[in-house]
Amino acid sequence: MTQSIFTVRASSWGGLFDCAYAWQGVHMLGIRKPAGLRAHLGTSIHASTAAYDSGRLPGGQALSIDEAASIFVDSLRQPDRDVDYSQDELSVREAERIGLTLHTSYCLDIAPRFHYLAVEAKLQPLDIDCGNGVIVRLTGSMDRSRVTDAGDGVLISDVKTGSAVIQQGEAQIKGRSPQLGTYQLMYEQGEQVLTKGAQIIALHTSTRPSTAVSQVWDAKRVMVGTEDAPGLIEIAAQMFRSGLFPPNPSSMLCSPKYCARWATCPYHE
Ligand code: SF4
Repeated sequence: MTQSIFTVRASSWGGLFDCAYAWQGVHMLGIRKPAGLRAHLGTSIHASTAAYDSGRLPGGQALSIDEAASIFVDSLRQPDRDVDYSQDELSVREAERIGLTLHTSYCLDIAPRFHYLAVEAKLQPLDIDCGNGVIVRLTGSMDRSRVTDAGDGVLISDVKTGSAVIQQGEAQIKGRSPQLGTYQLMYEQGEQVLTKGAQIIALHTSTRPSTAVSQVWDAKRVMVGTEDAPGLIEIAAQMFRSGLFPPNPSSMLCSPKYCARWATCPYHE
């Protein structure tokens, strides 16, 4: 039997279970759309906080909070990809104020509470056999996530930015299991250790920036399923085997602002 291997970035996996039709457009058909300034603000905060955390790993080149903040400012002001400044009602100056507040708060209040073992670790490829000769190969790195030594086990700690990441003071974990469960599975396979679970470190990018850390939960369970319900791996395998990627016009991201496939998608009306 001929084999078809689809190589997929592990960090994109969560999006498959939001709107699979949109995911197929971006990751299999190459449809792209520029990010807005608010999304780019998040990217820049991730760059500076990852540099700060990497410097605190054994053998890392330690950076002061201010030195890491300059990475944020450079990234924000000199994007290395297209940014659509008309998408958000946000000026670059305001984005810089929000980002610097969150960067400092993260470095002073959050990072010292964690003992990181790795920052945005590279992952060993994970093959999912979908049947009929179709293999999905997950690759890449644990984008925006850390591996944390929690004392009684290893956690996958994912840094999330955005204006909906904290609600009523709580870091939101809803819908995060596909991506973090994938990271748990891939880390376990690569390192031959069991993970204890996942957690979200939320950096809220509204005009009143704030931070929160979620509870720990087992994101992997959603991927592998239970006796009563199939896991998302099995459901994804069916999509790849059939070539049918269902649309989700009820997605929070179903809008011309967020969806790259909006212009040609017949399902959003
Ligand atoms: S427009 Fe809506 S339904 Fe269509 S691909 Fe985008 S998110 Fe999915």
